[in-house]
Amino acid sequence: MSQATVDAESSARAIAAIRRTRNGEALADVDIARLVGDFLAGRVPDYQMAAWLATVTAVGLSLAETVALTRAYVDSGRKLTLGGGARPVLDKHSTGGVGDKVSLVVVPLVAACGVPVGKMSGRGLGWAGGTIDKLESVSGLRLDLGAADVKRLLKQAGMVITGQSAELTPGDAATYALRDVTDTVESVPLIAASIVAKKVAVGADGLLLDVKTGAGALLPDRAQAAALASTMVQVAMAFGLPCQAVLTDMSQPLGQAVGNALEVEEALTALRGIDVPGLTGLCRELAQRMLQIAEPGLDTTAAEARVDAAWRGGFGHEQFLRWARAQGAQPGLLDRPGSLPSTRHRTAVVADRSGRVQEIDPRAVGRAALRMGAGRLVHGARIDPAVGVVVHRRVGDTVAHGEALAEVHHHGDDAAAAAVTALRAAFRLSDEVPITPPLVYEVFTTAEGSGNDRHLSTTGTHQEGSA
Ligand code: URA
Repeated sequence: MSQATVDAESSARAIAAIRRTRNGEALADVDIARLVGDFLAGRVPDYQMAAWLATVTAVGLSLAETVALTRAYVDSGRKLTLGGGARPVLDKHSTGGVGDKVSLVVVPLVAACGVPVGKMSGRGLGWAGGTIDKLESVSGLRLDLGAADVKRLLKQAGMVITGQSAELTPGDAATYALRDVTDTVESVPLIAASIVAKKVAVGADGLLLDVKTGAGALLPDRAQAAALASTMVQVAMAFGLPCQAVLTDMSQPLGQAVGNALEVEEALTALRGIDVPGLTGLCRELAQRMLQIAEPGLDTTAAEARVDAAWRGGFGHEQFLRWARAQGAQPGLLDRPGSLPSTRHRTAVVADRSGRVQEIDPRAVGRAALRMGAGRLVHGARIDPAVGVVVHRRVGDTVAHGEALAEVHHHGDDAAAAAVTALRAAFRLSDEVPITPPLVYEVFTTAEGSGNDRHLSTTGTHQEGSA
């Protein structure tokens, strides 16, 4: 924020907030609202806001404070009302990971089951790509829609995926920019407030959160990821937003493709009713849960049957094509496999011994794709839609010496050779039988659900700060 309008009174209040948070004293809602408002207006300097964020990252916030921070972000900008009509409109969010194209499958699948989904997504930074970056590989698709177009498309096409409007939650955007450069991203209350505020501001009728855990996740530690899932559900609940958070595995790449056009192509394959290892099972479970959020009386067997019929019948694929055309994609572009940007060069990464795959380091795979141009290290950098990696084996698979573990899609440059070396090192092979991770670990929900779901109530527990 600009330092020009810093004022003494706001600055003194910011210092008091830093001290009180450090001493474990609770801030009142009004203190947090003022801090965010003063920072956004430039009355509190960056260094004081950064000090408060660092303090929160170290010591945490109570649930009540996390809710107050969420409210301050929501109130800092415009609000939409995607929901509130005759048919409930749902929203979905993932904390992100390597090869995470789940939204590209789940949103059309749920829409094909008759439940409209409106999703505002971000761009990626670092080794995990953003949904909007992936969709930009579809020529003509408009991803900068205003509120009126979002509502029109929801009615016309049953779904919409677009970039996050700058008018929503500017308090979060400004704070996030500071967190990004001060190593204060990995904090449960800060992440929870940041994500849930954007969802509350969009105004859908229900929310499904996919919280990743494992080496390729924002919060690799399972207990921290579970704390984030539980906190986000409780914060959503405080805003009256029905919500489930599903704790899912990110200890290896999600599905097979890592790279923008490759991931869109893989999502289209999955939507045709074809089983993609490590992807379709998760997508079907998340879609089923979204139907149950939209229709609270729907039992699990009935929800599964509806999703199964839509998936096997390829209705999600038809829905994707209908939506993409309505949102500007060239007619016919996505109807044929192989019409998205692609590279001329492919290099196989082969196994140097036979055995079972013990581990595939997702960050190493993500970084290999990033260095070839599939991702960005600084905001605004250009992305190459065609390059990437296709992972042919998953943890637990058997492989013979010389068989392909992965395939690098590249332009024949030096970055490709480095990617092949990095990918070979990303796979660990041995003769042992490894424990294969489940796709879903645990579910946190505000409503009666099934099986192992954890039902939450809004009791004010302290949220740990750092990851
Ligand atoms: N994604 C967000 O939107 N906010 C965070 O704080 C972290 C990830």
